[in-house]
Amino acid sequence: MSITRRHFLVALGAWGAASCSTAPLPAQTSGGLPPDLQPQPNPQFDAWLADFRGRAASRGLSAATLQAGLSGAGYLPGVVRRDGSQIQTRRTFEDYLSIATSDDRLAGGRAALARHGETLAAIEGRFGVSRYIIAAIWGVESQFGARRGQIPVVSATATLAFAGRRGAFWEDQLVAALRILQAGDTTPDRLRGSWAGAMGHTQFIPTSYLAFAVDFDGDGRRDIWSDDPGDALASAASYLARNGWRTGLKWGQEAGTGDLSGRSVRPQAGGPAFTVTRNFDVLKTYNNSDFYALSVRHLADRLAGAGPLRGRFPPDANGLTRADRVAVQRALQARGYEVGTIDGVIGPLSEAAIRDFQAARGLAVTGRATPELLAALR
Ligand code: CA
Repeated sequence: MSITRRHFLVALGAWGAASCSTAPLPAQTSGGLPPDLQPQPNPQFDAWLADFRGRAASRGLSAATLQAGLSGAGYLPGVVRRDGSQIQTRRTFEDYLSIATSDDRLAGGRAALARHGETLAAIEGRFGVSRYIIAAIWGVESQFGARRGQIPVVSATATLAFAGRRGAFWEDQLVAALRILQAGDTTPDRLRGSWAGAMGHTQFIPTSYLAFAVDFDGDGRRDIWSDDPGDALASAASYLARNGWRTGLKWGQEAGTGDLSGRSVRPQAGGPAFTVTRNFDVLKTYNNSDFYALSVRHLADRLAGAGPLRGRFPPDANGLTRADRVAVQRALQARGYEVGTIDGVIGPLSEAAIRDFQAARGLAVTGRATPELLAALR
């Protein structure tokens, strides 16, 4: 498998941003994109697009497809901005895990399993991938469909192909997006996703869609954008099955909790270690990140009834444990500051609250949660 589902940094950044429970979480809506995600006039982009039309035609896209797919396409400055800033967030594995298995997400997962149990069972029967894994991917990728993304994919990928750091990669995604339109699976207006072109309930990029998406409900379209998640969830199972998933093979386990054989992974120094099997590596083809794969696996295990990890994490770089960070968030909230979900993840809202508190107290304004801050809050 030479193409991973999406590039590691894109995935890590997009997921961290999309899933960060301490950042505002706009609901899925049909419109209302912020101004920087609406097309802006850009003569250089227009010139690039004119050249692209020629290259696209030579790659088998019809004049009708190019007309329909590109007529509304435009330069989205917000996409370039997000591409430039996405690497700055370096969350720890402990943070990822807290976000991936938050109380809200566990509750959402149980509700999704109850509501779509029949579909998930049918997908498990056909592709041999556990319903808990599929539900966990769904939960991590789009919060069970609540955040499928509403940015026009043609404009997003065209903008990144024009201005991004990996133009050839994004041009391939743009061509693939146009091929989706040419195949009639969806319409230009419905071809929407994240700023990085990840689409639908399980956030497929266009090339992965072309390679792995399936029409599970048999209506003739591979519709991963619909409110009905069936095609999208089956497409994720198809992806894993085609990348070598072994039915019934346990992904791995926390080290010291059984006698499974496999290689060892310790994603965060001083934190829990895991013994992983081939199915863990298959999951990493979906997103080439140990943090991602372990978080999905742990969410799946929790949804299947397992408890939290046994291992503990060491204090963070500022000297606080998760319990300390939760205490910081609770103390700020008790003082009337908005911190979002109390999850021990110091995200943008918590940082802003810390800055406000520090300013109000006449302390140095750092936005960082430290032992001194915790003492001041107490
Ligand atoms: Ca379908």
